[in-house]
Amino acid sequence: MTSKIGSTVLGYPRIGPDRELKRALERYWSSRIGEAELRAVARELRVQTWRSLWDAGLDSVPGNTFSYYDQVLDTAVTFGAIPPRFAKLGLGPLDTYFAMARGVASEPPLEMTKWFDTNYHYLVPEIGPDTQFSLADRTPVEQYREAAELGVTTRPVLVGPLTFLLLAKSADGTPESFRPLDRLDALVDAYAELLGELHRAGVEWVQLDEPAFAADRSSAELAALRAAYQRLGDLAERPKLLVAGYFGDLGEALEVLAASPVEAIGADLVAGKFTVDVLSSVRGLSGKTLVAGLVDGRNVWRTDLDRALATAATLLGSANEVAVSTSCSLLHVPYDVDAETGIDPQVKSWLAFAAQKVREVVVLGRALREGRDAVADELAEARAAIADRAGADRVRNNRVRARLQALRPEYTQRGEYDTRRAAQQKALNLPPLPTTTIGSFPQTTDVRKARAAVRAGRIDQATYRRRMQDEIERVIRLQEGLGLDVLVHGEPERNDMVQYFAEHLDGFASTDNAWVQSYGSRCVRPPILYGDVSRPAPITVEWASYAQRLTEKPVKGMLTGPVTILAWSFVRDDQPPADTAKQVALAIRDEVADLEAAGIRVIQVDEPALRELLPLRRAEHGDYLDWAVTSFRLATCGVADSTQIHTHLCYSEFGDVINAIVALGADVTSIEAARSRMEVLDDLNAVGFGHGVGPGVYDIHSPRVPDTAEVVDLLRAALAAVPAERLWVNPDCGLKTRGYAEVEAALQNLVAAAAELR
Ligand code: GLN
Ligand code: ZN
Repeated sequence: MTSKIGSTVLGYPRIGPDRELKRALERYWSSRIGEAELRAVARELRVQTWRSLWDAGLDSVPGNTFSYYDQVLDTAVTFGAIPPRFAKLGLGPLDTYFAMARGVASEPPLEMTKWFDTNYHYLVPEIGPDTQFSLADRTPVEQYREAAELGVTTRPVLVGPLTFLLLAKSADGTPESFRPLDRLDALVDAYAELLGELHRAGVEWVQLDEPAFAADRSSAELAALRAAYQRLGDLAERPKLLVAGYFGDLGEALEVLAASPVEAIGADLVAGKFTVDVLSSVRGLSGKTLVAGLVDGRNVWRTDLDRALATAATLLGSANEVAVSTSCSLLHVPYDVDAETGIDPQVKSWLAFAAQKVREVVVLGRALREGRDAVADELAEARAAIADRAGADRVRNNRVRARLQALRPEYTQRGEYDTRRAAQQKALNLPPLPTTTIGSFPQTTDVRKARAAVRAGRIDQATYRRRMQDEIERVIRLQEGLGLDVLVHGEPERNDMVQYFAEHLDGFASTDNAWVQSYGSRCVRPPILYGDVSRPAPITVEWASYAQRLTEKPVKGMLTGPVTILAWSFVRDDQPPADTAKQVALAIRDEVADLEAAGIRVIQVDEPALRELLPLRRAEHGDYLDWAVTSFRLATCGVADSTQIHTHLCYSEFGDVINAIVALGADVTSIEAARSRMEVLDDLNAVGFGHGVGPGVYDIHSPRVPDTAEVVDLLRAALAAVPAERLWVNPDCGLKTRGYAEVEAALQNLVAAAAELR
């Protein structure tokens, strides 16, 4: 057994190369298969992953990377942090787990939020002074054994105790002063117990992920990190510890970990801008293994292996061993480039997904150990692909570049809000507390089938258009029947709010199988933004104006904003994201203008990912928010005063972007609030926000239907913070993942609640 880490990856996708887990989960949830069948699918996926990582030649294979839903939820369950409201349901372990993830009729689920600055969502643990931590579930040990039986030695991966508590929230009813981190000692005891069991099971290395330290941390939090790893490091019987920090620079935490007894530190050398510079000066590292995250775990471009090797070479003196790894878990990239058949071959040759990145890591590991000559062919091939991409014509469009050069300040300016408001009220004549939805309606099997059929050429464009029009008409009539005030066309033609636009813009490539887990069974297929972006023709105008022709009520045109398009794509890494975002913004600006010209009086530009792309370090916020806000304004400020611009934001914790939300300047902002009980309105008030706002009053992430009284309560809470003339009534987010029965019932209650308060 080797004691070195050599070459490894920090984690791997788990939804299945063909989304096997997604399908099995959904069948289990709808009682079409039983627990045994679900568990069999899960086991098969684990076996496949271990085998493929082992066969690819990684020196150290990560284990415990499988999850039925989310690794943070897994950690909570492993250590017994099951809130009483779920424990008391009396369900079996797996169903208790899913109840926490998805809620049940009587209990809303745990809150869900973004995993750092990625598009992955985790479930927020609820921790109180009475949470009893214990080693309640032995999955990490069992999965180590399961792999060992197949002849694969794994390195169990766990969310580290600090990151777990820093991502947790205080359980309801705990004193103001309580912080989940106050419970660190008790939690570390439970980790210690698990480490002991893993050691006895024969585990040599354990990986504890502490990405929370890639964000700004207080000295108390750094002291807690020091104490926890001193305590775990001092255990007499334990595996070796690799502590991995990723998504940026570890900052001061790097020194803390270097001074601790842990054997290895994982550093992200892709997102961590300064890590390479500081590594050589960090004391204490010389006795440890440095796991150098040289292969980007979050993007899809082939690694410049020469450059990675050069970086590795500069690090060789700073640690006892320099191992090669991905910058973070490969959870954030698709499985395999070879599964793509439709993509342009030149663009394809520039790409590396999880399977390819594993190979890159293996090549880098061999080059370091045996010298470059041992992998000369692989290095040459990578070099050629990098050079081809750098010189390719298709990444440059001179017209787009010229337009970007010629931007003028008035492109991001609009008339005074009060003037706009009056003009819009005159044009729209809406009642107080206007009701609307966020855009999408449930995507029925028929709709999905029609999209698949036109894609495969089984039906022609005209047939497809008729089917979509029928669906739009149904959704319009439904909304009219429900009594909603501002209608939407329902977005049936959209597979995904970003991919749809990417398919209609130049500069993007779409994929066939490149799915990435977003949350639970939900996957997205991010497009690949490889070149300068432009809009060859109008995209949504036909659908929006069709819908508008069917009704007297205003139909809201629905677009995705530039920041979100970037956030949910794999973005070129050969120019600053600010430039890329502005190119996208100009394309959306053209679409906004065309919608307005077609008689659409309300246009929503969604920016749900505004918060997501916020850099983890405060020092970088200003730059980001500057280009993010400028891009949104560039997209939306070209309209007349009487055209109402909406935006939509989700995924709570708006604190750090609250000023930016004001700066976006939208006439109406709908915002996720149902799970976080309207707190966001106070934050908006605190910064003097004075435009229309629609705090979500129906949590669409769960099948639960809120009753009218509940919505009235939420609206009353909202009215305590926002005057009636600025308050809108809407769900938290789009409805596309829900079923019609729930949606109709929920919207009926939502409209009834608004009527009751008018
Ligand atoms: N308009 C989009 C929809 O309703 C918004 C989705 C989102 O915010 N994620 O689906
Ligand atoms: Zn949303």
